[in-house]
Amino acid sequence: MKVDIKDYNTDVTPTWCPGCGNFSVHIALKKALIELKKQPSEVVMSFDIGCNGNGADKIEGFRIKGLHGRAIPLAVGAHLANRDMTIIADIGDGGCLHEGIDHLIHAIRSNYDLTILIHNNQNFALTTGQITSTTPEGKSMYGFPKGRTEGVISIGELTLSLNPSFYARGYSQDIPQLKEIIKEGIKNKGLSVIEIMQVCPTYNKESNHEFFKERIVKIEKNNSIKKAREYLSNKKKLYTGIIYSNTKVKNYYSKLANRKEKKSELVDEVRNYSIKNILSE
Ligand code: SF4
Repeated sequence: MKVDIKDYNTDVTPTWCPGCGNFSVHIALKKALIELKKQPSEVVMSFDIGCNGNGADKIEGFRIKGLHGRAIPLAVGAHLANRDMTIIADIGDGGCLHEGIDHLIHAIRSNYDLTILIHNNQNFALTTGQITSTTPEGKSMYGFPKGRTEGVISIGELTLSLNPSFYARGYSQDIPQLKEIIKEGIKNKGLSVIEIMQVCPTYNKESNHEFFKERIVKIEKNNSIKKAREYLSNKKKLYTGIIYSNTKVKNYYSKLANRKEKKSELVDEVRNYSIKNILSE
């Protein structure tokens, strides 16, 4: 069955600020799903709290809106229940690297077959621009007028330290490249971490389009961990593309001995059991 962008659009009016990177991220995501011929009924998306999370009602599909930082475990649950679905966790840098950092770490280690989109706008934008773990050191933000004190957590370096199967970085205002990255992430048979450097013209004016235009260097797919580390350690350039891909990392489900012979999905198997007695107790 043919699928069109209208199938993914909803009638909810976006409340994002003019120029917000969330608009273009949604366009790239919708286009990626369409080019992969995915119907909204084949896609599960989990969101957390944040400006990105406000996108939960702006795209069709099965959508779950969770607590702050909890988009990843919701996505993992959906994946383990039904591997026939395309699973996407959509989360901001604040939720992902603060409340949700344990979920990110263990999802990468387990290598579940799903895609995580991390909207990195370097601040807690929904609550008026407080620092997150990706806010540059020394940068003045709401609540830290004299500048942020700690260094940053690099999403790329953290991911690479955990033997990932896929880490890519895109830029919110480059829809064609971001669309291709998302497509590759969905096609990867393991956990795909996609960091999206996202503009936030309201609370992060310095990291604007000019800033990224001067620094971004696009690459194709890279399979060398050494090269990937070189890309990330370059402080003058921001490399975008598939920074690291390793298809040899086994995904979680393939390592489960008790599921080896099973052709069915848990979501179907559970129908064979009645929970009536448990509920009546
Ligand atoms: Fe977008 Fe920033 Fe506005 Fe949030 S505060 S909607 S991230 S521009």
